[in-house]
Amino acid sequence: MIVARTVEEIRAAVQQLRTNRPNSTVGFVPTMGYLHEGHASLMRKSAEQNEISVLSIFVNPIQFGPNEDLERYPRNESGDLQLAGQCGIDIVFLPSVEVMYPQATKTKIRVAEVTEGLCGASRPGHFDGVTTVVAKLFNMVKPDRAYFGLKDAQQVAVIQQMVNDLNMDVQIIPCPIVRETDGLALSSRNVYLSDEERRQALVLSESLQMAHSLIREQSTITAAELNDVIVKHIQAMPIADIDYVEIVQYPSMERFAASVKLGEQKSDILIALAVRFGNTRLIDNLYLPYQL
Ligand code: AMP
Repeated sequence: MIVARTVEEIRAAVQQLRTNRPNSTVGFVPTMGYLHEGHASLMRKSAEQNEISVLSIFVNPIQFGPNEDLERYPRNESGDLQLAGQCGIDIVFLPSVEVMYPQATKTKIRVAEVTEGLCGASRPGHFDGVTTVVAKLFNMVKPDRAYFGLKDAQQVAVIQQMVNDLNMDVQIIPCPIVRETDGLALSSRNVYLSDEERRQALVLSESLQMAHSLIREQSTITAAELNDVIVKHIQAMPIADIDYVEIVQYPSMERFAASVKLGEQKSDILIALAVRFGNTRLIDNLYLPYQL
């Protein structure tokens, strides 16, 4: 596995493997590291679908707000390199902040509308940081395909919009959420949780499962009714502090009107949650593609 730390090194490494393996495609998995099985599922899919796979690990400061967890974000470079090797990654890109942002950056990429609700509303500027770093990484790696987890469903919608709007020559591959056996969605931030917080955090996947059953069983349930059931279920956990519960169309992220009957909708539905447990903000969601 090649480890690249500068823009020149990553470009040279990708070029070298493309030359050595004619007609190969490059798959790319951008991450912030502290890798777990969720990241591993993306890396394995990339290795399955492409002759060359690139992983990037970069804790991107410009996507964190001033009071967020940038300083304490968990890191484990040696563990990450080991897992990457096991998942078929050929090149790991590990840039420093100075490499990614050598001087005060004057260009930012901002996707409108799709970024306005949900995490965009509670984390101002977050998605501008995400689209800017992903565009820079795409320009450095020049992948044919890029793999993103639906754990961050709004992020997938925002990046797909950017790729469409700016004619970026890369195929975005959304990948399903990987969960612990008890339902908790894997996240690098789960390491912050105390035992009690982790126990109460199971309410996220439980409430999404409950919402799924309700939509299947009661096609007349409205967006407002379902929202209410989910909110009450989460609030039954004493330390759960709701940031948002949203039922939106996917991928536009437009909120359904309160009176809309979800079982009768002819569009993809996303039920997305962000909830704090102590100092840790967790997100989870249920994606229900419309089936004819
Ligand atoms: P992060 O390191 O948290 O920025 O995540 C890097 C990529 O891994 C993003 O595309 C995430 O959506 C994806 N990811 C994180 N957690 C999971 C998970 N539990 N299941 C699937 N993909 C995930």
